[in-house]
Amino acid sequence: MHYELKNIILRKGKEESLGRFHPWIFSGAIHHTEGGKLEEGDLVEVLASDGRFLAIGHWQVGSIAVRVLTFKKQPIDQAFWQKRLAAALDVRRAIGVAQMGNVQSSIFNVQCNDIYRLVHGEGDNLPGLVIDVYGSTAVMQAHSVGMHVCRKELAQALKEVMGESLQAIYYKSETTLPFKAQLGQENGFLYGESHDDVAKENGLKFHIDWLKGQKTGFFVDQRDNRALVEHYAKGRKVLNMFCYTGGFSVYAMRGGAELVHSVDSSAKAVELVDANMELNFPGDTRHEAFAEDAFKFMEQAPSNSPRGEEMVNGKRSNGKWPYNLIILDPPAFAKHKDALHNALRGYTKLNCKAFEKIQPGGILFTFSCSQAVNKDQFRMAVFTAAAMAKRKVRILHQLHQPADHPINIYHPEGEYLKGLVLYVE
Ligand code: SAH
Repeated sequence: MHYELKNIILRKGKEESLGRFHPWIFSGAIHHTEGGKLEEGDLVEVLASDGRFLAIGHWQVGSIAVRVLTFKKQPIDQAFWQKRLAAALDVRRAIGVAQMGNVQSSIFNVQCNDIYRLVHGEGDNLPGLVIDVYGSTAVMQAHSVGMHVCRKELAQALKEVMGESLQAIYYKSETTLPFKAQLGQENGFLYGESHDDVAKENGLKFHIDWLKGQKTGFFVDQRDNRALVEHYAKGRKVLNMFCYTGGFSVYAMRGGAELVHSVDSSAKAVELVDANMELNFPGDTRHEAFAEDAFKFMEQAPSNSPRGEEMVNGKRSNGKWPYNLIILDPPAFAKHKDALHNALRGYTKLNCKAFEKIQPGGILFTFSCSQAVNKDQFRMAVFTAAAMAKRKVRILHQLHQPADHPINIYHPEGEYLKGLVLYVE
């Protein structure tokens, strides 16, 4: 532990947000630094303009200059990481997604579920760190230079906390760390090695490609929302747009859908959906996957107004778009605040197409995972789309991220996943 930390002294009045336990310090709030030249990833002590101790955090270049680890004067050492990770595991046990000794959770059957998020950054008071668990493998991702610097200590602490249930830790931060920091980071195992890539979510099996897949290999955050799709799927014709590994598609199949079409622009994703379908429903012909751009796919599909016979991906459709359950789960349209306006237009355009084309009595699951777009802005974008398409629309459910992606109450920015389930008359 570096007991002699470098200091960051804030401008007068800029300590206010720390008083409310907000874990970020923006670069504009800093007056000066003391104790030597700062290196990216350094632990720093943050002081008010009158020298009062405020917090300890990781410093890096950028608009968020410090990510606060603690508001107490305490060493940031192995014991500190272990305590934070143990607290995160306690939360997952309370939710019922992580095994609790021999006790069965009443909410989830953990035998049927070995995929969960163990650490969700600020939501677990570990800003800059994500850990997803797939069976006996943990995939660790650093989003800050500080967490990258601490990766080995973190891996050691994780081993202590998880015990025998953990066989491997894969570190996957090549694309999540600031490029300019030039850390020369590489993906690789920090502990053990794992090859078995099949994990279970609510009893359904998925190949998880933590080596090459997007994010940590799977979108863990849609678990509860996928279960809701299963609930609505019976007898419906389902279109799963931006399907990636086909999570929603596999649930829709189990829910008794009549037909399920999965669309993703990435050919690799389509391969994954097909593989996951084979794993759960071998030889089932209700499902088909298409490697296509979502907007192009929607342009091709005939609208709901009878216009004689048209083709839907090579099939006769009698002028109707066949789908009466549509899932739109696009990638984040706005990664930063300055992209907000375009992102909102993107959501309106996409949803407008779905409203125009969905069958009467159809159900639309529509999501935004852009952190920069808040719940009200997203709802407004979808409202605009409904009005443009002139459809009668009811909100049935308002969806969000699951409990293993908790939101730190002092960090409302942590609420990133928003969804609406709509009934389209
Ligand atoms: N619904 C998925 C996660 C979606 S992630 C799940 O439950 O796991 C977003 C996906 O959209 C990615 O797989 C990406 O390849 C795909 N994508 C991005 N742009 C696209 C586009 N224009 N058309 C179709 N798919 C696109």
